[in-house]
Amino acid sequence: MSGSIFSQDYREQPYWWDAAEPAPTPTDLPARTAVAIVGGGYTGLNAAITLRRLGHEVIVLDAERIGWGASSRSGGMVSGGLRTKVDHLPALFGAERAAAMVASFVQAFPYLEQAIAGEGIDCDYVRCGRFIAAWTPQHYASLDASARQLAARTGMPVRMVTRAAQRSALGTDVYHGGMIADATGSLQPAKLARGFARVAQAAGAGLVDRARVTSIRRDGAGFRLSTSRGELRADAVLVATNGYSRLPDGTKALPYLAHRMVPVASHIIATEELPDGLMDKLLPGRRMVGETKRVMNYYRPSPDGKRIVWGGRASFFSGSSRDAAITLHGRMLRVFPELAGVKVSHSWQGNVSFSFDGLPHIGVHDGVHYAGGCQGNGVAMMSWLGHNAALKLAGVADERFAFDLEHFPTRPLYNGNPAWVLPWIGNYYRLRDWMERPG
Ligand SMILES: Cc1cc2nc3c(=O)[nH]c(=O)nc-3n(C[C@H](O)[C@H](O)[C@H](O)COP(=O)(O)OP(=O)(O)OC[C@H]3O[C@@H](n4cnc5c(N)ncnc54)[C@H](O)[C@@H]3O)c2cc1C
Repeated sequence: MSGSIFSQDYREQPYWWDAAEPAPTPTDLPARTAVAIVGGGYTGLNAAITLRRLGHEVIVLDAERIGWGASSRSGGMVSGGLRTKVDHLPALFGAERAAAMVASFVQAFPYLEQAIAGEGIDCDYVRCGRFIAAWTPQHYASLDASARQLAARTGMPVRMVTRAAQRSALGTDVYHGGMIADATGSLQPAKLARGFARVAQAAGAGLVDRARVTSIRRDGAGFRLSTSRGELRADAVLVATNGYSRLPDGTKALPYLAHRMVPVASHIIATEELPDGLMDKLLPGRRMVGETKRVMNYYRPSPDGKRIVWGGRASFFSGSSRDAAITLHGRMLRVFPELAGVKVSHSWQGNVSFSFDGLPHIGVHDGVHYAGGCQGNGVAMMSWLGHNAALKLAGVADERFAFDLEHFPTRPLYNGNPAWVLPWIGNYYRLRDWMERPG
């Protein structure tokens, strides 16, 4: 293996699973329930917790294990998910709705912080801040302008770091400065998924794994769900399948949702432990890092501060995890050449989901509730969305939720499988990045 970038114990599964692999939930599928939730990630589990606390009987079903999807695979970077540019929203939705959307993005972050603290979830949560690294001088200028607007709109503290001062935040000269958003955090995502599962179970929700929902049909006043483990009758259904709304075998629990979600694979590697002192040099503030590039990288220290966890869109083609690891490792060395001798111990991937209008959505189609559309940034937002979808389903929301939108766009002929178009989009984005900064 000499010369290989991979460690002796290299594994193609999330680093997070070493400490908190999604656990089996040996619950039998009941014949009926009041509310069936399809998808056992943050969205489904938060909806289950809220519904149980409102007194509803709830069963959460997952095709794999509870928490198996993006929720136990993410980078674990926590923010409300608000992008710096939101100026287009008033023209599309009106000033009032646009303001409600911005407010809702902002609320997602404290919702999650309070859930973690209030439920006593041990998930290595730290409010560490995030550094958004500018890929070009123009990106820095535009970040600066939008950061001011964002701070004024939301009251969230942000500050700019010039290229000259960059090494105080990040041990590289690759970027042209950046922005620090202090009201952001980090956590161990698989521990959070386990934590939410524990809380849902303790609240009385039934968690049923290995139950792939193949169809949801009207049955009198309720619904009949066909699953790989048998039939389930439910008075109400919430589908929370996000980036897995179309499974690899083509199964779609709710085709309406699958036809509005564009699943995109995001890849991550973890390094073996760094030599003493190197982390202090590379990530002195121990913050999360993201880039302004279109095909962006995101990276962070592991919760124990010993490894780098590095993610990005390694490929828009469906390649192997090993190939993706080689690509990400190359990008990592470009930013931190000091990591040349440090090997990759884990690589994995998971699906995020983009909607055609770039927004998360909750709603109801043919009587079936749904929530989805994380836009790659859903640790807080999807938890918040699940909670709000539950309030809507229970009929107790004080007002219409900002992302309960009348229109949920799709595209003609789009069937939930973007495989034929993503490589073209990927190449286009790479070209745009290259045109802005060749090399
Ligand atoms: C590699 C990666 C890195 C990320 N990094 C970050 C980050 O740093 N910060 C951030 O905020 N967000 C990040 N995200 C996004 C975040 O992880 C997701 O937005 C969030 O976890 C979505 O939660 P969810 O419950 O909606 O979906 P998921 O956790 O994906 O759960 C959906 C579940 O639905 C199940 N399912 C699908 N179809 C069926 C069916 N027919 N029957 C039964 N079950 C079904 C699946 O098995 C799956 O477990 C990342 C995502 C990935 C993949």
